[in-house]
Amino acid sequence: MGELRVNASELVDTYGREHRDLRVSLTDRCSLRCTYCMPADFSDWIANGSLLTTEELLTVIGVAVENGITQVRLTGGEPLLRRDIAHVIAGINALPNPPRISLTTNALRLAEVAQDLKDAGLQRVNVSLDTLSAERFKEMTHRDRFHDVIEGIKAAQEAGLTPVKVNSVLLKGINDHEAIPLLKHALANDWNLRFIEQMPLDAGDLWARPIMVTANDIQQELEREFTLTPVPTRGSAPAEEFYVDGGPATVGIIASVTRPFCSACDRLRLTADGQFRNCLFARDETDVRALMRSDLTDAQKREGIREILQTVTKAKLPGHGINDPNFVKPERPMSAIGG
Ligand code: SAM
Ligand code: SF4
Repeated sequence: MGELRVNASELVDTYGREHRDLRVSLTDRCSLRCTYCMPADFSDWIANGSLLTTEELLTVIGVAVENGITQVRLTGGEPLLRRDIAHVIAGINALPNPPRISLTTNALRLAEVAQDLKDAGLQRVNVSLDTLSAERFKEMTHRDRFHDVIEGIKAAQEAGLTPVKVNSVLLKGINDHEAIPLLKHALANDWNLRFIEQMPLDAGDLWARPIMVTANDIQQELEREFTLTPVPTRGSAPAEEFYVDGGPATVGIIASVTRPFCSACDRLRLTADGQFRNCLFARDETDVRALMRSDLTDAQKREGIREILQTVTKAKLPGHGINDPNFVKPERPMSAIGG
């Protein structure tokens, strides 16, 4: 791949934040049922006909890249359930001045596809794994697939999709005693571990502030065993990184609720059914699918996408507002928005 040329982003909001990162949900469906994400019997799926086709996706992403997006993260639901995932990645990689491409996955299919995805142009993966116990994995996800995840991570490393980032959500009384073992395992296996605070975005409405495990809780627990020193450069990254025992290994904590990082946010989102959002917690979405399926010419559609991107960016609020007393969570859950 050639060197990434960084043009000035045209996607600048009213607070001066330049948007560089587009999170693209490829499907809202999933092969797991993580309790903090969706109930075991969840069935409120987006209709198949409403999902953007691969051609539509590539057009929208192409216009976003022309306007300054330099990083595309594919997510879901579970993005590896999209059968033509390698084709999607190859298409993004074939765009003029292609962006960096990464993927957030539960890794159940990763062992099968890691090499193909790497060959198609994928650069990195984030894998979600909350426990080192196969039994607890089954309890937390309603599926007996722990070993598939471990094999998936190994395959990603062998394919050179490195460093593999592993994301863990800790739940009080369920897996919060695993912070130290998870970090020890991550250090021993070259995983780049990040803990994510549980957010009020689950379809089952289980989130409650008094029972969430906070970034402070996680930091204090890890400091019982390790010395954590803040890594000075953070930029727009959501994780606060810490050197573990002086480094070079690090651990990240994504404190979306208790220490929000909205002032440095450079992210826009495209849902699997073609809605642009300027924040995970936004209450508004702007439809690009109808535009793509209209009778307009290709040039008019591209201009329309550009205008939508600019409008959505300009409408971005300074922060997600979770900590405001009158906060109302978005209508759609994380799995439909794209995590
Ligand atoms: N299925 C893929 C996966 O699990 O990696 C991608 C989508 S998932 C929604 C993306 C990330 O969101 C995962 O790391 C998951 O742990 C996290 N997540 C889901 N629900 C969450 C919640 N309520 N609070 C915090 N993180 C959550
Ligand atoms: Fe699926 Fe990811 Fe949600 Fe778990 S967190 S249920 S793997 S979308």
